[in-house]
Amino acid sequence: MRSISRRDFLKLGAASTAVLAVESQFNVIAYAAEQLIEGGRSVTRASGLPRSFLPSTCMQCPAGCGIIGYVEESRVVKIGGNTKHLSNQGALCGRGQAGINAIYDPERLLSPMKRVGPRGSDSWEQISWDQAMEEVGGSLASLKSRNPRQLLFLTDDIGDDHLGQRFTHAFGSPNIIASIGDFNANKLVADELTWGASGDMPDVANSKYILIFGANPLESNPQYLGLSRRLVQGIRDNQAKVVVFDTRLTNTSALSNELHFVNPGSLGLLILTLANVIMQEGLYKRTFIEKWTNVTPEQLAQHLAQYTPERAEAEAGVEASVIRTVATEFATTAPATTFTDQVLSNHSSGVQNERAAMLLSIITGNIDNRGGLCLPREQELAQPEPVPAPPPPSALSNPPAYPLASEQTIAGTFAQIQSREEQVGVLISHNCNPAYSNPDLGLVEDVLKDETLIPYHVAITPFLTETAALADIILPETTYLEDSDIIVKPSPELVPYVSLRQPVVPPLKEARPFFTIATELAAIIKGGMEQYFSFKRVDEYLSARIANIGGLQAAGALDYLKQHGVWYDPKSQPDYQAFKQNGFSTPSGRMEVNSERIAALGSPALPTYEPVTFMSQLGEQDYVLTIFDTAIQSDWKTGNCMWLDEILHRNPVWMNPATAEELGVEDGDEVKLTRPNNVGEAKARSVTSTVYLTEGIHPKVIAMANGVGHTAYGRIAQAEEIPYREPPDVLQNPNTEMIWWGHEEPGGNGVNPKQIVPVTLDPVGGGEAWGDMVVTVAKV
Ligand code: SF4
Repeated sequence: MRSISRRDFLKLGAASTAVLAVESQFNVIAYAAEQLIEGGRSVTRASGLPRSFLPSTCMQCPAGCGIIGYVEESRVVKIGGNTKHLSNQGALCGRGQAGINAIYDPERLLSPMKRVGPRGSDSWEQISWDQAMEEVGGSLASLKSRNPRQLLFLTDDIGDDHLGQRFTHAFGSPNIIASIGDFNANKLVADELTWGASGDMPDVANSKYILIFGANPLESNPQYLGLSRRLVQGIRDNQAKVVVFDTRLTNTSALSNELHFVNPGSLGLLILTLANVIMQEGLYKRTFIEKWTNVTPEQLAQHLAQYTPERAEAEAGVEASVIRTVATEFATTAPATTFTDQVLSNHSSGVQNERAAMLLSIITGNIDNRGGLCLPREQELAQPEPVPAPPPPSALSNPPAYPLASEQTIAGTFAQIQSREEQVGVLISHNCNPAYSNPDLGLVEDVLKDETLIPYHVAITPFLTETAALADIILPETTYLEDSDIIVKPSPELVPYVSLRQPVVPPLKEARPFFTIATELAAIIKGGMEQYFSFKRVDEYLSARIANIGGLQAAGALDYLKQHGVWYDPKSQPDYQAFKQNGFSTPSGRMEVNSERIAALGSPALPTYEPVTFMSQLGEQDYVLTIFDTAIQSDWKTGNCMWLDEILHRNPVWMNPATAEELGVEDGDEVKLTRPNNVGEAKARSVTSTVYLTEGIHPKVIAMANGVGHTAYGRIAQAEEIPYREPPDVLQNPNTEMIWWGHEEPGGNGVNPKQIVPVTLDPVGGGEAWGDMVVTVAKV
């Protein structure tokens, strides 16, 4: 397969220039925001009116960047980046700025709603909070007295929803499942097995050589702005060489030194071949392998010998000479790191793929060193007393088929419910949208509509999402700009920090924070549950969460966070290679390259390439469908943000011109993507969209963007105008009359390709194999 040089990039994408320009602007924005936090005066340019400002935390994606909310006459008029925040350091992406669209979404739910027709019929009546709490509290109290383990609580990220977890456990149920598991479960299992920690953190700012396998940190990553900022820093200040292996030209590969297209599904093979070259050429770090892993170099060399560059050239499509060069450069340039994400791990062999990538850093000794692949650092928070004991696991919280998985998938959960493996009494969906985000949306919809499977569904959300549309009752929650919480994330700077989310403005109309909803429900449910929600005010709860952090307590505790938005120990430096004192948190204290726990599940103990049969034997009519994230839309979360929808509202099918010629289609033609019968089960088999021709994609791959194609979530998400009404109120916005994109052109509002993706889980990690999706393509 052809590789792309830096010169080609200049022709193919201007993204790299754009990123560097953004980076250079950070400092200007940073300076202005710094002055404000220190007590400066801010005035809106257009109105001349003074505006107040408050630091908080963005929740438009998992990164949790520090923001400054600017408020004029009780209205948020601008969101900027908080320069003091250790992760984003003043930078802010478009989604963060569009938080204003979320809080002033003209179709926000601002009073409780109860369905009056069949589920999903969009027939609702407005009810009072008193009635809503009486009905929801009564149903939950009844379930708690009968069988509390039948409560199922779905959320986006358990780490960001500790109140949800506290609620579920205090209720007596182990069943809290997060949709983030659908994306990262396999990678977490690989990390936990190998070095005993969840996740990793490539120290890209200090690296000299960065090897990226399918990841695209300049557009999408759980630590998006923090890591993209550090990657640009590494390239600009450290002259790091960046080499990308991918099936698609992305903003990240556009900024790299080399992009090598690789055949779809063969990244695992390519990675193990790189490792083999390093071993055969004697470029490995013998001392590190012998001291810190549970294998010998000889064992590894023997195992890896099967992965020859010639085999990889034939199967992965990368020239053997390129593989030898990259392997040699990686092993002889120090420090170096690999960079992976869900693109590598979201396969039915995802755990093995991710273990293979870790092996490259292990054999070159680039583990937790400055510039290498580092262990994640995240501030630990206290659990306010009394702490509800986690109830014993269930088949939903810990499916016996996936004993190693620390995160379950909502996709797997819905499949279990449909097969009646476990009975659900009440479903609470909080801040998540599986009816948009999951694979096999038909399955999700069927389960949510079936009252024998889900007898009662309570949606706690500010928006009428695809999932909330299938609820029995909706409790209108505040948006993140009206709410409080303590947020911690893995630190891209490798120094733990604590971030505060605080209300930039008070809740609109009748919306209530989740803290209030959970506390009031606990008081109604009783049965001992109320003792875990006895905090008089949310500040009391937040203070208890940070009570264990001595440095923050000395600095002023919650008051400090309210003023600055973030805290970290200013004297703290990354504690590189602390494992040399304490060992790794694995049973052996070493990195477990040879995993008995994997072997016990019937998968090879050493990192091994396990080809997916239908991926490695693609027929002439078969193509691999990649669903990619962008920097504009954040999966389901930003669907009704009009500033973002105006930029990204369609997801045409990326197609190589050579592929188009074979298929007899041209740019703009309408095509139908159909899942073949041998590629799993999903209720929907086909989606239709238009063709976008680009050289920046492998000829056997077609790709579609995620985040558009909504079927609910408000009129803007569905590209419909909202007439401006008089008299104006806080949610009225004349710009909603100017929705110029829409249904009149094919694919005008996008399509959700996840509906044709079957639920296919990695047998070891239990995570969804999004990347193993094959389709046939036909002109409509
Ligand atoms: S990266 Fe995520 S958290 Fe940060 S500003 Fe953008 S949307 Fe918000």
